Amino acid sequence: MTAETLETVADVAAATVEVHDVHKWYGTHRVLDGIDLTVRPGEVTVILGPSGSGKSTLLRVINHLEKPEIGYVSVNGELIGVKRQGERLKEISERAILAQRGRIGFVFQNFNLFPHLTVLDNVAIAPVATGRLGRPEARQLAKTLLERVGLGERVGAYPRQLSGGQQQRVAIARALALRPGVILFDEPTSALDPELVGEVLAVIKDLATSGTTLVIVTHEIGFAREIADRVVFIDGGKIIEQGPPSEVLDRPRQERTRDFLSKVL
Ligand code: ADP
Ligand code: MG
Repeated sequence: MTAETLETVADVAAATVEVHDVHKWYGTHRVLDGIDLTVRPGEVTVILGPSGSGKSTLLRVINHLEKPEIGYVSVNGELIGVKRQGERLKEISERAILAQRGRIGFVFQNFNLFPHLTVLDNVAIAPVATGRLGRPEARQLAKTLLERVGLGERVGAYPRQLSGGQQQRVAIARALALRPGVILFDEPTSALDPELVGEVLAVIKDLATSGTTLVIVTHEIGFAREIADRVVFIDGGKIIEQGPPSEVLDRPRQERTRDFLSKVL
């Protein structure tokens, strides 16, 4: 693979994500029970649901960290899962999965930064490791992205020297360095002290308004109302209700959605 230039790295097209009839079991426990979901380019989708409802598993299936037993996922029309072909399930190659995953950013609840690398190297490492950029270009890109998330002054720090909110902003810059067509967030603020939540939500909001496709699992209902194009409520591995925040959050039609919202609001 040839290294990309900084210009092409900055020039990223927002992706479409399609989840088709995804079923996932752990042993006999059905965790996802026929999920269909389409996220259009630049759309911000917020996923809500009680603990254990399958939200993290859904994100992990989209990123191909988990394989669905039935159904498949595509990102920009490219299959990244298991396709049902008549009765046969067709697997796709590990190489194709890796290539696809390289276009999907993933931000975890607990940041998952490399403790032994500086902030700059945490962000620069993936484009180098995947052969997309040479080391000087990757470091230049990392600096630009760290400035974007407000950490231009902390490039030489180690993760342990940062607050949780700062670490999460580094994790977001790291996701951006992969030039993702979509970024998946799994409860990005739930491990943070309350006073640090706002700085992370502000960075996510900046991405939302700049047209990146985002899928965000969060319990921050006010934030969801502010930035979501669509809210998806999941319970028991099924989509119970979805629509714009003005419908799902303010006038939920389903009893289970009302019950959940009355507990988190
Ligand atoms: P959520 O993110 O909505 O809280 P998860 O997707 O993490 O829910 O989990 C859904 C269900 O799947 C839960 O009952 C959880 O215990 C179970 N589960 C998740 N991961 C695994 C796993 N690796 N092995 C077995 N069960 C799992
Ligand atoms: Mg979860």
